[in-house]
Amino acid sequence: MNSNQLRQIYLEIQNNLRCTQCGRAYVAKNIHLRGTLKNIYFFQLNCEGHSAFATITVLGQQINISTENVSTDDLLALHEQLTNFNGNFKKVFKKT
Ligand SMILES: [Zn+2]
Repeated sequence: MNSNQLRQIYLEIQNNLRCTQCGRAYVAKNIHLRGTLKNIYFFQLNCEGHSAFATITVLGQQINISTENVSTDDLLALHEQLTNFNGNFKKVFKKT
């Protein structure tokens, strides 16, 4: 990942993703990179009062985005888990 690719991901998010709860587009200041694992990037997306989490997988020039609505509590828990991430995705995304 270089800074060009990171910029590309930010653009992809801004151009392609909308808040599923109110339909607003995300702007750069509301997109936060929370963690990386090899070619997988975890972004927190904030809207006014809404949060979502985006998992971005980069394969060569191809960028795949999947999102999931989460509560602020979920985000805090997820962030904590990513901080201690040990490669176990099932654990990270396990619903409680
Ligand atoms: Zn929203």
